[in-house]
Amino acid sequence: MNIDTIIIGGGVIGMLTARELALAGQRVTLFDRQGTGRESSWAGGGIVSPLYPWRYTKPVSALAGWSQRHYRALCEQLRAATGIDPEWTSNGLLIIAPDEQRDATGWARRRAAEVQCLDRQQLAQLEPALARPQDGAIWMPEVAQVRNPRLVKALRRDLELRGVPIHEHEAVTAIATRHGRVQGIHTAHGNYPARTVVICAGAWSAALLEGVAPAPPITPVLGQMILFKAPPGTIRRITLESDRYIIPRRDGRVLFGSTLEQCGFEKRTSDTAGRQLRESAIQRFPRLADCPVEHHWAGLRPASPAGIPYIGPVSALEGLYLNAGHFRNGVVLGPASCRLLADLLLAREPVVDPTPYRIGAPRQDPGAE
Ligand SMILES: Cc1cc2nc3c(=O)[nH]c(=O)nc-3n(C[C@H](O)[C@H](O)[C@H](O)COP(=O)(O)OP(=O)(O)OC[C@H]3O[C@@H](n4cnc5c(N)ncnc54)[C@H](O)[C@@H]3O)c2cc1C
Repeated sequence: MNIDTIIIGGGVIGMLTARELALAGQRVTLFDRQGTGRESSWAGGGIVSPLYPWRYTKPVSALAGWSQRHYRALCEQLRAATGIDPEWTSNGLLIIAPDEQRDATGWARRRAAEVQCLDRQQLAQLEPALARPQDGAIWMPEVAQVRNPRLVKALRRDLELRGVPIHEHEAVTAIATRHGRVQGIHTAHGNYPARTVVICAGAWSAALLEGVAPAPPITPVLGQMILFKAPPGTIRRITLESDRYIIPRRDGRVLFGSTLEQCGFEKRTSDTAGRQLRESAIQRFPRLADCPVEHHWAGLRPASPAGIPYIGPVSALEGLYLNAGHFRNGVVLGPASCRLLADLLLAREPVVDPTPYRIGAPRQDPGAE
């Protein structure tokens, strides 16, 4: 079968990109060097919002806003098609940051998003498990979460049902090029010709550009999380305070994270971080002291300057595209990023202005919206 487009990487970004192109009638084939959805897209928390959204630049907010408007429908489509429920759940985001109320309300006004400032009674009512409710919390009732390990399973099944060939445990070793044009890819099992290739390899994306085109600074940043086994209703809301957040799933399980560590591509957990995460979870939510920690894991986020992903053609090589560098927000930015990539590849009207995501575009500092 002739392939129009090869997707390298089967995380949330690669699979959503493959889905967008398949929906447009393209013959797409996806490669992952292991099983799909085993890296950052599995390890993440699944909050469908950037943390402290007002601290981000306009380009991040534009993608997040588009995705948030479409997430529920996407999850319903996936559930109907595959029988796997990504558990889109709108249980709202509480942010304990009284000093940031003005920034939060100003941002919400500009974005037509809902933000309320709470006193301690209102906060205690919304999240009775919180140890020391205080005045000045920020409440974003519209924020949702998805159960990302199920989202990636549903996406994989959806691609299968659409007839997209998925080559798992087959690493792409090089991009095939000739006369400034992409020809396909090489793997240990053979060569696969294609007219276009999209790199969606998360933290490993820059390595695939080596010897082909100048690589943008996409680097791994490790994040560790723990999971409590708790009865349903133990924790009600996604709650964020300084660099820690809690995410209650529908079945009662509770995620608590996360660390931000620079240690290259070494994906490992440490007992110290696991202990500190458990202690700070119990400090904030004392009822978790009776709940066992069921799991402790780590993932490598694909970091980029200001967290603005690279979406679009790699100008040094015709037919080569990049969709990577979503850092802490790949789950929430995914639907918009992948629609935009497909729009650019298929020469359609783009859903958002593509300029800030171009490979060579300057990335502003966070907070400069
Ligand atoms: C602890 C933690 C918490 C997070 N919480 C959230 C959150 O609440 N909300 C949110 O929006 N985001 C969150 N994120 C970030 C989010 O998970 C990532 O931004 C997103 O998953 C990136 O998706 P991706 O598809 O680009 O990368 P990945 O999921 O890492 O996928 C990349 C894929 O490429 C494959 N690959 C690599 N090299 C090759 C090769 N040579 N050949 C073939 N395949 C290759 C890999 O095997 C992998 O499957 C979190 C991340 C972490 C670690």
